[in-house]
Amino acid sequence: MSLKEEIRKIVQVQNIDSRIHKLKLEKETLIPEQLQKLKEEFESKKENLASFEEDFKKIQLKKKESEVELASKEDVLRKAQADLYKLKTNKEYQAKLTEIGSLKADISVAEEDVLIAMDDIENCKKTLEAQKADLAAEEKLYKDKQSETANTLKDFEAQISSLNNERNNYAKEVEPKTLAKYDDLLVKRHGLAAVPVVGNNCGACHILLNHQQINEIKMYADLVICGNCVRILYIPEDLE
Ligand SMILES: [Zn+2]
Repeated sequence: MSLKEEIRKIVQVQNIDSRIHKLKLEKETLIPEQLQKLKEEFESKKENLASFEEDFKKIQLKKKESEVELASKEDVLRKAQADLYKLKTNKEYQAKLTEIGSLKADISVAEEDVLIAMDDIENCKKTLEAQKADLAAEEKLYKDKQSETANTLKDFEAQISSLNNERNNYAKEVEPKTLAKYDDLLVKRHGLAAVPVVGNNCGACHILLNHQQINEIKMYADLVICGNCVRILYIPEDLE
């Protein structure tokens, strides 16, 4: 096979390689990253909910405490009111009245506390329900994406395997020496090893090539490498 013919195959191999590279990048990096992001969002919402549930328990406990406090103050008040009629002197009577007044004020504060706690609990219940629904939606999104991803990855593997076969069919027709040079450059030149000459310039780094270089390329006796970006040069019209 002529070198020109080999370069034609190399260009086809390179097209397939870049498709394989793109699929692998998506399979190994982009898709796992998307999935990881959803997982983190789900887990962060789960943690928020757990911490909110803790707060909710505290508010419920506080309400219970306020209710106990209220009941105990009401008890004391009842006793004080009963005592009122047993008192002998006016001084004692006045002192008990003052005590009762102060107890009533305390009770009013305790009642207010219970009402506030009840309000807090109602609001928390609403927030809790909203957070639970939000978490369930996030979980569904994550699970759906997980199974969608599993399918996508299977599909990608099939595509990559089929592209590899296609690649090998082209590659096996290229001289091992030429193919080795291409493979080496592909890695070193980040996926672009063979580039067309555009006008009289390298198609990758755009450096101007002289007539002698153009003539050497057109002879296809040896691989001509761009002196600037180190890539195999070819004239696209020659390969048509
Ligand atoms: Zn170049």
